[in-house]
Amino acid sequence: MSKANPRWQAIQTVQNRRAVKGSADFAQTPMGDLFGANVFNRTVMRTLLPKNAYVGLIRCLDHGDPLDPSLADVVANAMKDWAISRGATHFTHWFQPMTGLTAEKHDAFLGRTGEDEWILEFSGKNLIQGEPDASSFPSGGIRSTFEARGYTGWDPTSPAFLMESTNGKTLCIPTIFCSFSGHALDKKTPLLRSLEALSKQAVRLLRTLGDKNVKRVTCTVGPEQEYFLIDEAFYALRPDLINAGRCLFGARPPKGQEMEDHYWGSVKDRVLAFMMDAEAELYKLGVPVKTRHNEVAPGQFEVAPVFEYSNVATDHNMLLMEVFKKTAQKHGLRCLLHEKPFSGINGSGKHNNWSMSDDQGNNLLEPGHTPQADEKFLVVLTAIIRAMNKWAKLLRASIAFAGNDHRLGANEAPPAIMSVYLGDTLADVVNVLISGKAEKGNKAIGAIQLGISTLPELPRDTSDRNRTSPFAFTGNKFEFRAVGSSQSIAFPNTVLNTMVAESLDYMATRLEEATKAGKSLNEAAQALVRETLSENQRVIFNGDNYAEEWHKEAERRGLPNLHHTIEALPALVDQEAKQLFVKYGVLTEEELVSRYNVMLENYCKTINIEAQLTMNMARTMILPAALQYQTAVAESIISMCQAIPQDQRPDTSMHSAMVKDLFEKTSKLKFAIDQLESINNESEHGSEDLLAHARFYRDKVIPAMDRVRSIADELELMVDDGLWPLPKFREMLYIL
Ligand code: ADP
Ligand code: MG
Repeated sequence: MSKANPRWQAIQTVQNRRAVKGSADFAQTPMGDLFGANVFNRTVMRTLLPKNAYVGLIRCLDHGDPLDPSLADVVANAMKDWAISRGATHFTHWFQPMTGLTAEKHDAFLGRTGEDEWILEFSGKNLIQGEPDASSFPSGGIRSTFEARGYTGWDPTSPAFLMESTNGKTLCIPTIFCSFSGHALDKKTPLLRSLEALSKQAVRLLRTLGDKNVKRVTCTVGPEQEYFLIDEAFYALRPDLINAGRCLFGARPPKGQEMEDHYWGSVKDRVLAFMMDAEAELYKLGVPVKTRHNEVAPGQFEVAPVFEYSNVATDHNMLLMEVFKKTAQKHGLRCLLHEKPFSGINGSGKHNNWSMSDDQGNNLLEPGHTPQADEKFLVVLTAIIRAMNKWAKLLRASIAFAGNDHRLGANEAPPAIMSVYLGDTLADVVNVLISGKAEKGNKAIGAIQLGISTLPELPRDTSDRNRTSPFAFTGNKFEFRAVGSSQSIAFPNTVLNTMVAESLDYMATRLEEATKAGKSLNEAAQALVRETLSENQRVIFNGDNYAEEWHKEAERRGLPNLHHTIEALPALVDQEAKQLFVKYGVLTEEELVSRYNVMLENYCKTINIEAQLTMNMARTMILPAALQYQTAVAESIISMCQAIPQDQRPDTSMHSAMVKDLFEKTSKLKFAIDQLESINNESEHGSEDLLAHARFYRDKVIPAMDRVRSIADELELMVDDGLWPLPKFREMLYIL
């Protein structure tokens, strides 16, 4: 070959790379000094704010009291001085529109006070409200009926922070984002409303159960994040990774993850250098990342934070994704957050650890050691099991999008069937509660009387025994494992909080009724738990969620198994769902429908982009390479024939067969590309009905894409390595 293959050049580039030194020199700046250095947190506020302002803010943060607007100027001023003293020049309202990403528009702290007189300013009004033009953000139809103007509003429950970039710092103020008429246009507003609803119903239930002091219940979340790292030199040669976030072509590598040698393996120096650098950035932002390790697939890793208040955990996960992407580039790497960058290799998810705690800091999902605590625990647990059974489809819809379809419903755990894993001991407890008597071999000792006997000691390590469940009880929290790795956790948590709020409401109402009717609290709770568990026990499953038998069993139990985004999304807008969200004040009907529309639109756009890329790459990169090789083989036969007299010629049939095979494959590839093009064109002037449009993409466009890919992947395994233009899986996943 005369011209060096760009892939081979990329490999050389990677081999010359060394671990880069970033800001993570913990010897220079100890971790303790770094943590929270760029956050306008309580410590900073206590020092900088006058006492009344500080007390007012803390009341707002801890008790949900409304903030006195007159304090805004004072807080804004302190925030400005703090930010400027640390090198900031601009501020921005930082919000999370329905794109699933974050949005920011920077303004300098610059104000004119007179002719040629300038000051650095930032007022209470600047802090509290912004007016971005909402017309370029997805609104799912709300925009056309209302004004295009949008408003961002300060959310004091998530702290402001300084975002560092190469040449300076920007003060970021977490805000919500809504339309002129007050309709939520973002992911945070409904999350905050769902947290209110959850708190209200949980407090009601706890009070009914005799806890007279509880005033507020907060939701805690710890999202574990999986991701891939590949070298930037490979990334730059993959238009599919650049534009779609995943490989649309690529044969399975000879070595996948079968050796099980990557999970928890020692972390390569270059990767560890990246991790430490990213962590240092996150520490400055007060994001408490704690755990890091190699994941199952080659090139795959995980990072997990210490859990926080759900709202802050959501912001911090957005920051984490952003910082990881930015820092990776600094290290000549790319961080891939897509759910399935490499088909045939494990995908990535986000394990959303979720629990509730009261204002004394007691975790409501901590099995207690006293009868009263057990009672509380079992009533709350029962409510969650009921919610999972009643609202499984909604939770499934909250994680439905094109990227996640490659995990859920494909042959990968967790499956699309929403079930609850309790672990053996707790499952026995539930069985005993339902039947009223201990069965032989049960670990739950004796018949359990609520409020009378205590639970058997629950093992702490239940999580490790079942990694296949989408919703697993892991000691003192639930782990929702079906969330996509690229997805904001806001909406899944909004849905989870709302459905649990409804269930807590149900339990509280039933208990109130029973006690009013003269039953003792104990009797009432015992009967309610038994009844509710037996009605909803079908959702409990402790076996292997990956197994074919479970899918059959789930069908027998009548559990929904919605493989696909298209099947999953409609549950969001059925009558029951609308009533649920409206009743708890989380989303109005219009807001809910708009979200559904945005999700469907997003699906169509994603597949359309993938389809165009598939055509493009197949036509301009893969077909030419295959044709070049085909010509080379044909020419080699011809020149051989010319070189050797006919009577001495060896048998050329093997070589002819090769050319024939290549010829057939390149024809098939060309045919498949043309077919994909005509099908995708049909979809572009497709139906007005969004769901039908999305269904067309699923039923027609995706299969046409798959046909192109499968021939292309076969060709990858035949064509001269020197001619193949796309970095191969065996390179991207291993050369790091
Ligand atoms: P595993 O890898 O077995 O799932 P880890 O301990 O590594 O367990 O991760 C668990 C995650 O759950 C961490 O982010 C942790 O902070 C979080 N977590 C622990 N307790 C709670 C809780 N009460 N509420 C929410 N998240 C929690
Ligand atoms: Mg986990």
